[in-house]
Amino acid sequence: MLVTMKEILERAKKEGYGVTAPNVQSEDTARAVIEVAESLNAPMIVDVNAFIHPDLPWFVGFIRELAEKASVPIAINLDHGKTYHDIMLGISSRFTSIMVDRSNLTYEENVQETKEVVKMCHCLGITVEAELGHVGQGENYEIDGVSNLTIPEEAASFIKETGVDCLAIAVGTAHGRYKGVPHIDFERLEAIAKACGDTPLVLHGGSGTGDENLAKAVRNGIQKVNLATELVVAGKENLEEFMKDSNFDKWKLMHAFIEGYKERLIHYVKLFGQENKAWK
Ligand SMILES: [Zn+2]
Repeated sequence: MLVTMKEILERAKKEGYGVTAPNVQSEDTARAVIEVAESLNAPMIVDVNAFIHPDLPWFVGFIRELAEKASVPIAINLDHGKTYHDIMLGISSRFTSIMVDRSNLTYEENVQETKEVVKMCHCLGITVEAELGHVGQGENYEIDGVSNLTIPEEAASFIKETGVDCLAIAVGTAHGRYKGVPHIDFERLEAIAKACGDTPLVLHGGSGTGDENLAKAVRNGIQKVNLATELVVAGKENLEEFMKDSNFDKWKLMHAFIEGYKERLIHYVKLFGQENKAWK
């Protein structure tokens, strides 16, 4: 069942659970994500980067077809739309949700550009995610982990001014691999959640953040958790294990990667309480 991300996240907010948003990078991983959702009777958000596929409209069409046939609610989200081109490509590729990432700009510029995207997307029934504060890179964690964190009052006014459906916030997570130990500013998260009322909140950089931190973040106001690196690493490790046997079955090679990827995703679906939350 193909749905908007707004439907998925508003339910999650009301019922107090988190939803994984795995970044898919191929037909195989997209199918794997939807299979996991169906096997656990869970709603799911499929995150797709604009640069990930040579033919994005075709790729989104492929995921839409899988989603329409699926027994559980599935949303398809353009991750990190950084340019006007990304947004237009996302709309024409028929995503059910688009992230407009102008988190590198000033507050005023971010408001102005996000507002414009919201205006276009809402006319078309597309959910919009934006980012306020800036989630940086794990390899630069010493600096990125403590700078450009989201200010609660700004988050509240940003939502009011832009009409955005959900908001990605910076509270100490980072993309990719952490260089150092991740430290989440839970006090800030709670203050943001309080200030933002009913608007769902998004955590980028879930990989490597740790079960305890992520589960606590979900309990304290996060509804969507983006995951990429950790799923791919789990797939790679399973593949390496499979290939240790020099007589490995060549027909099962891709399967070995996918199995590792799926297993890690299942772990998070269960951790965030997303299992059995699908509706008809
Ligand atoms: Zn991200």
